[in-house]
Amino acid sequence: MVALWPLPAKIAELGEIAAARHPQLAPRIERAVAIAIGRDWAYWGDDLWDIRGYLVTTHSCTCPDVENSAPVFHGRRICKHQLTVILLNRAYADLETDVPISLYIHPQTH
Ligand SMILES: [Zn+2]
Repeated sequence: MVALWPLPAKIAELGEIAAARHPQLAPRIERAVAIAIGRDWAYWGDDLWDIRGYLVTTHSCTCPDVENSAPVFHGRRICKHQLTVILLNRAYADLETDVPISLYIHPQTH
């Protein structure tokens, strides 16, 4: 396996582009970039992610932000966790590699 951890530069670049394109999401994109770069996530395969203890897919998240206050984007509320998933998927796709699957349960601290 190639070392994939010049990945932060790619994530930061994608975050900047996305925030410029979607200013209403910019604050959450900024936080998503930090989560993605901070490796504060685990991927379990089949579009299932653990991000800071929330169960996240590309289209859903179990966090309260989705229920309450996240901005609506393409007809659904989108939180920083979903944005993290989107950023990571895109970054790994740009690097032409699969997202590494975590074989452990991510310790939940947040
Ligand atoms: Zn969320």
